[in-house]
Amino acid sequence: MRFELLIKGGEVLDPGAGLSGRFDVAIDGGRVAAVEADIPAEAAGRTIDAAGRLVTPGLVDLHTHIYPGVTYWGIRPDPVAAISGVTTWVDAGSAGAYNLPGFREYLDRTSRVRAYGFLNISSIGLVAPALELSSMAFCDVDLCVQLARLNADFVRGVKVRMGAGTSGDYLLEPLHRALAAAQALDLPLMVHIGAAPPEIDEIVALLRPGDLLTHSFTGNTMRLTGQDGRTREAVRQALDRGVLLDMGHGGGGFSFEVAEALASQGVLPHVISTDLHQASLWGPVYDLPTCMEKALALGMSLPDVVRAATETPARVLRLDGQIGTLRPGARADVALFQVETGAFPLVDARRVERTGTTRLRCTLTLLEGRPLPPELPNQPAPWIR
Ligand SMILES: [Zn+2]
Repeated sequence: MRFELLIKGGEVLDPGAGLSGRFDVAIDGGRVAAVEADIPAEAAGRTIDAAGRLVTPGLVDLHTHIYPGVTYWGIRPDPVAAISGVTTWVDAGSAGAYNLPGFREYLDRTSRVRAYGFLNISSIGLVAPALELSSMAFCDVDLCVQLARLNADFVRGVKVRMGAGTSGDYLLEPLHRALAAAQALDLPLMVHIGAAPPEIDEIVALLRPGDLLTHSFTGNTMRLTGQDGRTREAVRQALDRGVLLDMGHGGGGFSFEVAEALASQGVLPHVISTDLHQASLWGPVYDLPTCMEKALALGMSLPDVVRAATETPARVLRLDGQIGTLRPGARADVALFQVETGAFPLVDARRVERTGTTRLRCTLTLLEGRPLPPELPNQPAPWIR
């Protein structure tokens, strides 16, 4: 027996490896062992029949909140992972310096999925729904850098939430501090945008190549389009520099109207992510495949959509070649989907509806070659209406 497991006869789509077509995927020792047109079933101990299924690398969700019990937003990732194909979960700033050690201990004890984090520049993280930057005493660059260095195997970037309800009176100061921390760590910064002030032009002007805007398609006052519906000049310049757009759909971060205006000018998400949390899990987000369906509805091709949920976020994490691909030697994280065509309602954060023509129904999630078991879904916390 050459391989432990064989996924046979599926339509493989792995943009990171330039693979598209009918291939068999062999898995051994938790890693992808071979991807070939025809690997005989006898070569493997066990075979999964993937005929009629789309086979992709396990999805990488770059914007989630997975620290329940300590933060306002947190959900348990494993129940959603098992039914959505998301094998790598990146927490976007739930923890700051004070609660990062507890977050890691919590994940080690309760979760099987692959997890990484962007460390909040606010030392208290997202314990409460907002106001994490209500005092600049919580915005300690040195402490953020120190904790990130102590957790270099986990921390993949720095997070800051910019906007009236979070950075408030301090305007650009939290962004300057978050950039200083990211600079010292040589890591990307992820910037949440929503309601001004400060102004979106001031924010994007400060971002470096590789930094990410999240909630990029917000319909709020920091939207990336001007009054005329055109992409703002400062945004164009940031995109030319290599600033990345993360969808970060969430409860308020995605507007079809804005996304369609930007898409018509060739501005599309580099990364498709959910911003999955207590107040978005039960709608309008549900899961990452649903966000991918919305990107398809914007006119993105299926290979581009899969790339934006596999290879590109893996590259942001500096894990390209290891996750988000089915290249031999990569972690054997795999997702199987039934692709349905028809007319499916899709809603944005303001409950504006569009009709999608493709549904991606996950039928199996493998983490290092093993299926994630089904689990009872998260129950909403008492403060979620
Ligand atoms: Zn978020």
